[in-house]
Amino acid sequence: MEVFNNKTDSFAKILCGRTLAYQQQLQISIDVQEHIAKGHSAPCLAVILVGDNPASSVYVAAKQKACAKVGIISNVLRFSQNVSQDELILEILRLNKDFYINGVLIQLPLPQGLDSNSLLEALDPKKDVDGLTPYNLGRLVSNRQNFVPCTPLGCMDLINSIFPDVSGKKAVIFGRSLLIGRPMALLLEQANATVTIVHSMSKDIKEFSKAADIAVAAIGRPGFITADYIKPGAVVIDVGITRVEGKLLGDVHDSVRGVAGWLTPVPGGVGPMTITKLLHNTVKAAQLIFS
Ligand code: NAP
Repeated sequence: MEVFNNKTDSFAKILCGRTLAYQQQLQISIDVQEHIAKGHSAPCLAVILVGDNPASSVYVAAKQKACAKVGIISNVLRFSQNVSQDELILEILRLNKDFYINGVLIQLPLPQGLDSNSLLEALDPKKDVDGLTPYNLGRLVSNRQNFVPCTPLGCMDLINSIFPDVSGKKAVIFGRSLLIGRPMALLLEQANATVTIVHSMSKDIKEFSKAADIAVAAIGRPGFITADYIKPGAVVIDVGITRVEGKLLGDVHDSVRGVAGWLTPVPGGVGPMTITKLLHNTVKAAQLIFS
């Protein structure tokens, strides 16, 4: 399946997340229709949005739009930034019991003072479509995947569109967050790649990254990864999104286009795949009730 477009002005081919996301969303729409045709209600996602972080509002609006496109119902539950931890836990417990809600997403980051870990611990793992509860992360660690975090899952599909088999490939992950870096490393390692994670305390990062056939950048530092970090011909996945003067910037510097074999753009790379995997996990949660 070809998911990249040639660009004549640079060496790296653009690995287009929008194209792959579009293809996968067509299949998800069909899955939703089939689910409804069996007499079930449309899959339903509840999103908990706390405070008025403008980036979070934009991401939630994009998720709602994507849900509508494939036939998933989405309900956004908005809370002021003064909401208490206990109120949010009560809401999560209510959603856990609501038969018509198949997936619950807690939009991160939360305002200061709220503890996302204890909220995630309250969430029913069967509705954890973001794959971030301790149960689902534990399943991932033990290679018995249930719900996998959406961004690494989407990155894996992008990587597999170039290397259907990553066995024996060297991969470097920039960043070790629970949301991206760690699950990404597990997915690649379980697919038999040899994985190195680098983080803010790592020394001599280029020594590792210049040997990698696959590089995943998830540090949130615009343009940090320059051409001298990257092996010629490598597949480079730019997860980073930072808004600078109204523009969205990735972690990968423009100079990497002259070295990499394939590179995901920002925007239009990982972002659409993250949303698509949220849709995928929501439909899966709805289907699992009846399997
Ligand atoms: P995070 O929790 O802040 O983690 C950042 C990681 O980068 C940490 O592990 C940190 O190391 C590491 N790091 C920071 N500076 C570094 C440096 N100079 N060299 C090496 N490692 C460094 O961020 P996150 O939630 O993982 O998100 C990362 C980026 O992805 C952000 O830009 C975010 O907006 C973006 N994102 C994109 C999507 C998408 O769909 N495209 C989805 C979610 C997030 P330490 O652990 O040592 O601090």
